[in-house]
Amino acid sequence: MYHFSGNLIVVMLLTAVAGGLWLILDITTALLFYSVSLLLLVAYHLYYLTVLDKWLQIQDPISTAVPDGSGIWGDVFARLARLIRIQSQSNQQLSQAFERLRRATSAMPEGVIILDESDRIEWCNPVSEKHFGIDFKRDADQQITFLVRQQQFAEYLLTHNYSEPLVVKQARNQELILSLQLVPYGDKQKLLISRDITSLERVETMRRDFVANVSHELRTPLTVIGGFFETAAEENWISSEMGKRALILMTDQTSRMQRLVEDLLTLSRLENTQNQVQDENININEILYELYNEAESLSAGRHHINLTLNTDAKLRGSADELRSAFSNLVTNAIRYTSDGGKVDLRWSYENGKSVFTVQDSGIGIDKEHIPRLAERFYRIDLSRSQETGGTGLGLAIVKHILSRHQAHLEIVSEPGKGSSFSVWFPENRTVVVENG
Ligand code: ADP
Repeated sequence: MYHFSGNLIVVMLLTAVAGGLWLILDITTALLFYSVSLLLLVAYHLYYLTVLDKWLQIQDPISTAVPDGSGIWGDVFARLARLIRIQSQSNQQLSQAFERLRRATSAMPEGVIILDESDRIEWCNPVSEKHFGIDFKRDADQQITFLVRQQQFAEYLLTHNYSEPLVVKQARNQELILSLQLVPYGDKQKLLISRDITSLERVETMRRDFVANVSHELRTPLTVIGGFFETAAEENWISSEMGKRALILMTDQTSRMQRLVEDLLTLSRLENTQNQVQDENININEILYELYNEAESLSAGRHHINLTLNTDAKLRGSADELRSAFSNLVTNAIRYTSDGGKVDLRWSYENGKSVFTVQDSGIGIDKEHIPRLAERFYRIDLSRSQETGGTGLGLAIVKHILSRHQAHLEIVSEPGKGSSFSVWFPENRTVVVENG
C-alpha cells in the first residue's frame, strides 16, 4: 500500500512538474520531460521484472542470494524469499513424514497394498511384494486380480463383506499360506493386508487331523456298542428293572456320542481347505419344502409351522451342505420353542441378495450370548441343550458352511419372545429365474 501510493506520488509529482514547465516554458518541453520521465519509470520496473524472472528460473531460488532491489522491489524480493523459505520447509517436513511412514510400513511383518477404487495397486510394501511375487515398479497401477489370481480372492473382493479374513495358498509357492484381510478406507480405497500364517496353519492342520482321526477311530466301536445295546433291548436280554433303565440310559448316551462323532467329522470335512465347495444350481424351494415336512414330523403337531416361498431364486453351491445348514436352524427353532409356539420359514429375494429366515416364538437368547453362539460347544443352557439332543456343534457347522458360500448369519432375538436366524447370500451366489 505504502509503495503503491509512493509510485502514485511520483507520477503525480512528474505530472505537476510537467504542468509547471508547460506554464513557464512551452508544451513541447513539458511533454518531452513527461515522456522521458515515464519511460525511465517503465525501464526501472522492467529491469526488476527481468531480475525477478531470472531469480525464479533458478531451480532452488532459496539457496542463491536474494536479489537487491530498491523501493517496492526490495520489499517484493524479501517477501517472496520468505514465502519460498516457508514453502520449502513444509515440503521438507512433509517428505520427512512420508519417508518415516514408508520406513515404518516397510518394516511391518505384514504385507500392505493400497488399492484404488477400481482395485488397482496404488502402493505396496516389500513384504507384500514377497507374499504375492509382485514388483511395485513393474506392477504399479495393475488390477490386483491380475496378480492375485486365486478364484476365492476374486469372490472375496466381490462380496464387499470383509469382516473375516480369507486364507489362501500362494499361487507360485503352495507351501506359503496367507491370511488376507481387506480394509475399506477413505475415498473408496482399500488396504489389502497379508499375513504369513504357514506355521500357524501347520499347528491348526495337526489339530484338525487329530480330531478327525480320533472321531474316525471312535466311529466303529460306538457302532458296535450301539448295535449291542439295541439287540439287548429288542431281545430282552436284561430282565431286572434297574438293568432295563441302565440299558436305556446307555443307549441314549451312545447315540449322543455317535451324534457328536458325526458332527466332529462333518466339521473336519468343512474345515479341510482341499475340500472345495461344489458349484451346483440348487433349487432352494424344493429343499425348503422337504425341510418343512421334516419339521412337521419332528414337531409332531406341537408347533404351528409356516413355509413362505417369496421367490424362485436358486443358489449356486453345495446342495448337501446348505441343506444341512438350513436343517440345523429349523431343528433348533423347534427344539428351543415350547409347545404351541410358532416357527416360520421364509425364502426371499431383496436388492440382489437372497435370504433364508427361520423365525420362532421360542425361549429367545440374551444379547450377550449372540456373538458367541457359533463357537464349538457354546451352550447357554447345557441341560436344555442335552435334553433336546444337542451336541453344541450345530451352529459351528452352520457358520462354516455359510462362510464357504460367502453368506452371513444375522441373529435377532429377545429372551422370552423368540429368535430370528437369517442367512444372507451374496449376489454372485444367487440365481434369479426370470419369469415370462
Ligand atoms: P446345540 O446342539 O446345543 O443346540 P447349537 O450350536 O445348535 O448347539 O446352538 C448353540 C446354542 O444356541 C444352543 O445351546 C442354544 O442355547 C442356542 N440356540 C440356538 N438356536 C436357538 C433358538 N432358535 N432359540 C434359542 N436358542 C437357540
